[in-house]
Amino acid sequence: MPNPVPNKERMKMPRQHMPEREPEIRARNFEEVNLGYRPELANQEALRCLACAKPTCTRGCPVAVKVKEFVQLIIDGDYLGAAAKIREDNALPAITGRVCPQEDQCEGDCLMTKKVESLAIGHLERFVADYERTTGQIGIPANKPSTGKAVAIVGSGPAGLSAAGDLIQQGHRVRVFEALHELGGVLVYGIPEFRLPKEIVRQEVDVLRQRGVEFETNVVIGKTVTIDQLMNEEGYDAVFVATGAGLPQFLNIPGEHLNAVYSANEFLTRVNLMRAYRFPEYDEPVYDCKDKDVVVVGGGNTAMDAVRTSLRLGARTATLVYRRSEAEMPARKEEIKHAKEEGVDLRPLTSPLELIGDERGWLSGVRCQQMELGEPDESGRRRPVPIEGAEVFIPAQVAIIAIGTSANPLIQSTTPDLKTNRKNYIEADPETMRTSKRGVFAGGDIVTGGATVILAMGAGRKAARGIDDYLSTGDW
Ligand code: FAD
Ligand code: SF4
Repeated sequence: MPNPVPNKERMKMPRQHMPEREPEIRARNFEEVNLGYRPELANQEALRCLACAKPTCTRGCPVAVKVKEFVQLIIDGDYLGAAAKIREDNALPAITGRVCPQEDQCEGDCLMTKKVESLAIGHLERFVADYERTTGQIGIPANKPSTGKAVAIVGSGPAGLSAAGDLIQQGHRVRVFEALHELGGVLVYGIPEFRLPKEIVRQEVDVLRQRGVEFETNVVIGKTVTIDQLMNEEGYDAVFVATGAGLPQFLNIPGEHLNAVYSANEFLTRVNLMRAYRFPEYDEPVYDCKDKDVVVVGGGNTAMDAVRTSLRLGARTATLVYRRSEAEMPARKEEIKHAKEEGVDLRPLTSPLELIGDERGWLSGVRCQQMELGEPDESGRRRPVPIEGAEVFIPAQVAIIAIGTSANPLIQSTTPDLKTNRKNYIEADPETMRTSKRGVFAGGDIVTGGATVILAMGAGRKAARGIDDYLSTGDW
């Protein structure tokens, strides 16, 4: 059905904003903040699409989702067709519709942004994926006949899951090994329930199970069994390493050893996987945020997730300190907006100097240096420089450090012929995802360093193509 709205009129239609829970209520529970479009809102938003001859939105998406086509299918009322169109390029649309940094990707490149707000591509993607999911109609493609080859996947984050889906379809036997007791990687242990309900990830895993993918949890590859053993003793023809970058980094300032100082990784994992939010049913020490002043250090998605989680655990105050300005915070814009609405005290241009403790070794506050912006550094961003003599003390009984992560070294140290770079990330060909070791492929955060869900997912799909190619030709 052609779009009934004339092209010129489309620019005049306001963007349909997604309904959200009220900040005062949602800041104290773990229910999802965004409520999703109803069909009328989705249809209204879809009508705004300019249907450009050369869609720049698709160029802005790391996996080139065919935005124009799927939006047209929404206009036609064919929501399942729209979901299937997205799945041609993106295996996890209910997840990416929620967590992609759209403003820097598809929506950032939408032509409408020259004059008005972009088409709400992420919201539309989420809408059709949720329609498909909640009506129990996720399309399950048929697998090709068995090839007799077996592939081991190490890690069940978006890179591992998307590779598993593509490889099982090609007729290979696929087994995913996961160190933790839950499947999904950062999607379950990092990103909190109020942004990405765990049920959605579980459903995607269930679909893979129905398609024949085998999963084994609580197995640490490199400890329980090595990559060489998987290939030489357990009969795997290829291995895909998708272990992510989960090793926390610290500030290296005095006081980081104090009680109640956590890495964001530990904090979020305790809350997400050990269900600290269901106190007293699950009695986790992380619950000591209740009635405390919490300071989080960092400006990315992880920092936003940690500070917003602390509020939901009952923090009296939740302060976020970041050494650059707010405009340079790497977090998704929506997270910054939501954090502010929920009462987070955002303190940009503030850098911790020391964590101060009481006589019993418990944190009592953070001494910080006030900064200003100087000349641009090698990243192109203006460098934060200290304002002489300007210090501030922020009282805090809990601190959470969220300044980034690095590669987990276990696989690399137990697989000597696997080439790594100086930061210990695995070296892999950007197209085939082949590593220096025959039959071993790698992708996602373990190759790029901490990046995004959609990039990890795209890497998983490339690896699946690379592995299929290797298994069918034997060429290396
Ligand atoms: P991961 O998701 O890290 O999965 C790796 C898996 O491998 C883990 O489950 C791990 O337990 C397992 N593993 C590790 N070592 C072994 C081993 N030796 N044996 C067996 N298993 C092993 N990106 C976005 O696009 N949008 C967001 O809003 C966003 N928010 C984020 C919030 C947080 C708190 C964090 C931490 C990250 C966020 N990201 C976000 C980044 C994104 O989640 C990651 O880039 C992505 O998950 C990387 O996927 P991956 O598959 O490479 O690794
Ligand atoms: Fe946009 Fe992410 Fe969907 Fe690509 S996958 S179209 S970047 S929301």
